[in-house]
This record gives sequence, structure tokens and C-alpha cells, in this order.
Amino acid sequence: MAGAPHQDQEINRLKRIIEAYEKLTEFSHQELLEADRTIQAHEQIQGMSAEEIRSLHRRIDTLKHENTFRKRIKAILQEDMQNESKILESLERIRRSSTEDFLVDLFRVLVHYEFEGKEAQNYWDAIIRHNQEMAENLGRPVGLRVALLDFFINQNKILKNPMIIEISIFDEMMKNNVLDELTQVYNRRYFDRTLMREINRARRHNGKLTLFLFDIDNFKKYNDTHGHTAGDEALKCVGRMLNSEFRREDTPCRYGGEEFVVIMPETSAEAAMLVAGRFSEKVAVAQLSSGNISISGGVASFPSDGEEPGELFLQADRALYRAKSDGKNRILHVADL
Ligand code: GH3
Ligand code: MG
Ligand code: MG
Repeated sequence: MAGAPHQDQEINRLKRIIEAYEKLTEFSHQELLEADRTIQAHEQIQGMSAEEIRSLHRRIDTLKHENTFRKRIKAILQEDMQNESKILESLERIRRSSTEDFLVDLFRVLVHYEFEGKEAQNYWDAIIRHNQEMAENLGRPVGLRVALLDFFINQNKILKNPMIIEISIFDEMMKNNVLDELTQVYNRRYFDRTLMREINRARRHNGKLTLFLFDIDNFKKYNDTHGHTAGDEALKCVGRMLNSEFRREDTPCRYGGEEFVVIMPETSAEAAMLVAGRFSEKVAVAQLSSGNISISGGVASFPSDGEEPGELFLQADRALYRAKSDGKNRILHVADL
């Protein structure tokens, strides 16, 4: 059918949005329990108003309920990606054996919108019809989620605004995916946002934070000697090591090319220098198929070396520059220059 590749692209795009959406809106059970405990502590310590407490507990209960429900729905959605018409059958089966609220819950999970029971029923019927129409037009089965999104984006005016606001956020997130594809560490965009957020957080708590910026030495030569594929392999290896060697609280990012930066919250420059030194030793002995690499790095701390994101980065970069001009394969703290 003419235009099919474009349709496929569009469908894939919508699928990715839904997946990101599901990931982002999922809370673990542990997180919900912690939230409950935090509220209880506030209740005892700070005397929040009874009304406020009740409302918070209600929200958490809703999330707990939604969480279980979401898992069930997710399991169904993931059951058979190749044959999404099965999803519809499974949902229909559950619906027949569930209470009236099933569809209300389903829409809340799928599109984050709270319908009345009757409305939910009407929309569900319309979506099933829409799904069949799309399938007929495309000449093959169409996934429920695709039909659902298409229905709410293109056909239904009431939901247009809330959906478009949320979809555009997730769309943007997908376009500028937070991970760097080659190295699987965070990308530059995510770095910028996270540094800003972490600095603000440190400022609020009178805390500290350290940036560790590094660049692979003589990497142009490495590429020229061993080939671009070997270069990519080395970058991937650095990415893997960043992901395994740093704490969960740290944020390793690919700043660009062969330059990486790690945000280390609640870490002094001295502590960061130790960690960075250990990391660079590990990089130097990493088993690469085409010869070893070394790195040069710069370290700068908030607030002593810089108080704004841009300034802090510049200070780390100054130290990195000096590390290069001093002979490479070393890490310097900007305060020691
Ligand atoms: P220095 O020690 O001063 O950092 O020298 P250098 O050769 O590492 O620095 P330069 O900035 O001149 O070269 C960086 C090289 O990194 C050039 C570019 O080909 C390579 N590079 C950047 N991104 C990638 C990538 O994604 N894959 C590969 N294979 N190479 C990359
Ligand atoms: Mg380099
Ligand atoms: Mg470079």
C-alpha cells in the first residue's frame, strides 16, 4: 500500500512515546511505601493539617492501586508485540470479568485521563471501531495503543489539549533521548539539565558537588592507527566503565566526541580526585582489542571553584586543558593549578 513506510514510521514513533510514558509513570512499590512513611513522619513531627494528610494518603492509595493495575495492563500489552489484536482480546476478557470501573482505570493508566464510567464505555467502543477502521485502511492489524493515540490525537477534540501537552513532553524526551546511543551514558542535553538541578539542590542544602571532566588522549591518532570502528569500541568501553565504576547517585555523561563528564553530588574535590584517579587507572589497563588508551581530566567543585553551572564547567575545563599541556594522562583539580 502506498505510503506504508511513512505509516510504519509514525506507528513506531507512537509506540516509543507510549513506552517512554509507561516507564516514566511507573512507581515501584518500595517508593510508594517510602512516600507513606515520609508522610507519617511529617504528620508526627511537623503537624501537617489532617486534611492535607488525608489527601496525600488518598493519592498514594490511588497510585498503589494503579500500580498493580498498570502491571497487569503492561503485562498484557507486552505479551505479544507481533500480534496486538491479542491484546484487545485479553482486555475484553478482563473487562467482562471486572467491575464497571475497569475501563475508567484502563484509561487512567493508558492516557492519564479520568473519565466517567459511561464516557469510558463510549470511548472504548469508539476506539475499538477506530482500530478496525485503521486496520482496514492499512490492510493489516493495527495495535491497540496506536489506535488509541490516533483516536485521541486526531479524532477526539475533548482530549486534544491534555493529550497534546503530555505527548509533546514525551515526544521531546524521545527525540532528545537522554542516553547517548554509542556509549549508553547520559547525553549532553541531560547533563545540562542535571547539573543545573544538582547545583540548585546543593545550594538549598548547603551541600557540595564535584564535576569530573575528562578527554581521551591522542584519540585522533588512535582512530587513524586502528580505524574508526576500533575508536568506537574504545568509546563504548569507556561508557561501560563509567556505568559500572561510579555510584548510582553520580551522573556520567558524554559531553561530546571523546569527552565525558561525571556529576558527583555530595562529593568533595578531594574525594572526587581519588575516584577519578582510580577510574583513569582502570581505563589505562582496560582490555581493548586494538591497544590501550589513557585519559586526561579536570576536577572542579561547587561552591568553592564555581557557583554557576557554566562557571563550574569552565573551571573543570581549565584544569583539563592544563592536564593536557602538562603531558596528558593525569587529572588535576582546578584549585591546584
Ligand atoms: P588530545 O590528547 O589533545 O585530546 O588529542 P586528541 O587526538 O584526542 O584530540 P582531538 O580533539 O584532536 O581529536 C579527537 C578525535 O576524537 C577526533 C575524532 O575523530 C575522534 N572522535 C570523536 N568522536 C568519535 C566517535 O564517535 N567515534 C570515533 N571512533 N572517534 C571519535
Ligand atoms: Mg582527546
Ligand atoms: Mg577532545
